[in-house]
Amino acid sequence: MKTLPAAFAAYRWAPSTEELALRVGVDPVDIVRFDGNVPAWPAASARPANVAAALARVNEYPHGGYPELLRAIADYAGVEPENIVLGAGADDLILLSARAFAGPGDQVAIAEEPTYPLYAIAAALAGAEIGSEDPVVTFCCRPNNPTGTLGPLPDARPLVVDEAYWEYAGDTAAGLIDQGVVVLRTFSKAFGLAGARVGYALADPGTAAELNRRQAPLAVSTTSAALALAGLADPPDVTDQVEERDRTARALGALGLEPLPSRTNFLFVSLDEPESVGEALLRRGLVVRVFPDGIRFNVRDREDDDLLLEGLARVLDRPTPVAPAGARSTRALRATAETRIHVRLSLDGASRVRIATGAGLYDHLFEQLAFHAGFDLVLEAAGDLETGPHHTVEDAALALGEALDRALGDRRGIARYGDAVVPMDDALARASIDLGGRAWADVRLEREPGLAQHALQSLAQAGRLALHVESSGRDEHHVAEAAFKAVGRALRTAVRAEGAGIPSTKGVL
Ligand code: PMP
Repeated sequence: MKTLPAAFAAYRWAPSTEELALRVGVDPVDIVRFDGNVPAWPAASARPANVAAALARVNEYPHGGYPELLRAIADYAGVEPENIVLGAGADDLILLSARAFAGPGDQVAIAEEPTYPLYAIAAALAGAEIGSEDPVVTFCCRPNNPTGTLGPLPDARPLVVDEAYWEYAGDTAAGLIDQGVVVLRTFSKAFGLAGARVGYALADPGTAAELNRRQAPLAVSTTSAALALAGLADPPDVTDQVEERDRTARALGALGLEPLPSRTNFLFVSLDEPESVGEALLRRGLVVRVFPDGIRFNVRDREDDDLLLEGLARVLDRPTPVAPAGARSTRALRATAETRIHVRLSLDGASRVRIATGAGLYDHLFEQLAFHAGFDLVLEAAGDLETGPHHTVEDAALALGEALDRALGDRRGIARYGDAVVPMDDALARASIDLGGRAWADVRLEREPGLAQHALQSLAQAGRLALHVESSGRDEHHVAEAAFKAVGRALRTAVRAEGAGIPSTKGVL
């Protein structure tokens, strides 16, 4: 084998979530990763239905490549299909660019340091050296990783501009592809498809053809191409992520930290002892990327970013700039062929509730339940709503029940029983709960908006609780809403922490 330079260091991945969880003794579902610079959740388009056609032909090669995907990328990027080179992520295209432009004896320039390490790795693998003396190609990361900043575009040519984060910055060199610039982009960041491994290069037609000649045949799988195409049908709007980044940056300021001005979905904060801060955060289940002079973390959403801000405050022994998270918290992910549900639940919360399943009325009902239980609850779903709300509502209720079961742990020290009577205009509901661990549901609604009874039964089943509900009235919405509120009030009492004992004469639950 050809020898590599003595100083060559291969690309190193961060440890797996399971490995990190084992190291610090927490459940893997309670590990929250801020270190991948990827969105917290997949795009709504990343659903089994969108890869079904590709799976139905997965025994065959995609003869002729992916003309539909090239057309869609061309429209998205404002170029023509002959300007595009596909790759298995931007990484693949970095390696391709290096081997296409550079070889032994050549110098490859890197515009800014610190930066993404793969340019130097790709140059070494091509047999070239890093240097700025008459370089055969220059790599530039814009906006830059790990700093997040948007530096000036170098005048050097040929120039490969890595725009992995361009959607967040809105600044691109794509207009210069006819002037010696190659732009690299990815579906891993704003599109939320990092696991699919799809990227693309934009170049003038001659350069694109030369890159394609040197590219592996069909570097992108049919299922990944299908996911990318589905993503392009509704490209991401990063406004919320950018606002959340700025909110997080302001909160860091209140903590006395100074993040670099970011144009990406992540922030870099200089610290004196980044290693020990990273380790202390990890012990709280919060994974950030540690650098010699600071830490880097991507934004997720308000609830998760608040966990990180609170964790940082505790680790640095400073007052927390955000409301502390509730105790007895858990996270859950329930994924089936029909739906994907994320739940974050704190039993000792402050009724901070955000429900987004897309199943209108039921979002409202789950919200009433959690609010009146005093829980903090985030419940998000991406489901096959085109078939109706049934799968989404059922799986949301099951996921909430599973989360409740997990948050209760061994159920030691809880009140166990709870009951409530809730009037609502014409409706009157009564709910009684036993959290003894045996599932039972007797739910009688005089009128039914469709799935209310089924949702409560599913909750009881997955939450291992005995639930008796009776609700009557003239309006079906009121009947259901009063029932969900009554279940919430009953839960509030039943989950109350009362001591350390097992609430049963049997001594076990
Ligand atoms: N370039 C930069 C600057 C990155 O941060 C990353 C992701 N870590 C990549 C490229 C690789 O992206 P992909 O998943 O498309 O290979």
